[in-house]
Amino acid sequence: MENNIIIIFGPPGSGKGTQAELLANTFNLYSFETSKILEESFNNAKEEDCVVVDGKEFNLVNESNLWKTGSLCSPPFVAHLVAEKIKNLHKDNRGIVFSGSPRTIYEAEKIIPLMEELYGKDNIKVIFLDIPAETTIYRNSNRRICSLMRHPILFLEENKEMTRCPIDGSKLVKREGLDDPETIKVRIKEFGERTFPVLEFLKNRGIPVIMIDGTKCPAEVFGNIMDKIK
Ligand SMILES: [Zn+2]
Repeated sequence: MENNIIIIFGPPGSGKGTQAELLANTFNLYSFETSKILEESFNNAKEEDCVVVDGKEFNLVNESNLWKTGSLCSPPFVAHLVAEKIKNLHKDNRGIVFSGSPRTIYEAEKIIPLMEELYGKDNIKVIFLDIPAETTIYRNSNRRICSLMRHPILFLEENKEMTRCPIDGSKLVKREGLDDPETIKVRIKEFGERTFPVLEFLKNRGIPVIMIDGTKCPAEVFGNIMDKIK
């Protein structure tokens, strides 16, 4: 599994980030979060900064504004950043676990063939964490992460009052913008219309999709994933 690619899909709040982290630790995989890569590129973006993909210019501040309102960024822009990162990781002989990407058919068309070429089709495992819409809304409106390491903090009775990360002691925060109720609705809609069809795309390429019940606790979900990918 060390030189494999594992792709985890699921609606917002299905626990993709947590499972990716667990798999990354278990198999020494690079945990690929498109949101991190986007945020890194936005962090120091100035008004005039652009990325050119296939002759078209994409302004970083415009992309950043799309991102902050819950919409998906321009697919060519995202696909470009993701492809560059995958090539670099492959050069370093790293296996990768993805959570939530490719996010669009466009991105999948650009990225899946690249993955197949670099890692081999048989070494790509796809997992779908299935949760109903009401679970998505409940989990997202209560989600917190730590400010230092972005550890996701599961919303439970026991830790409602907790203000600091139990691992590193940093403050727990809401993800600014991303987990507001209106933004969550946009993200669910985007997932259904733009990300969900990627599953069909993968099946059509002969890459099986492993369905996992995402409503269980993270430890149980992880156990079920391990059983299926061995
Ligand atoms: Zn932490």
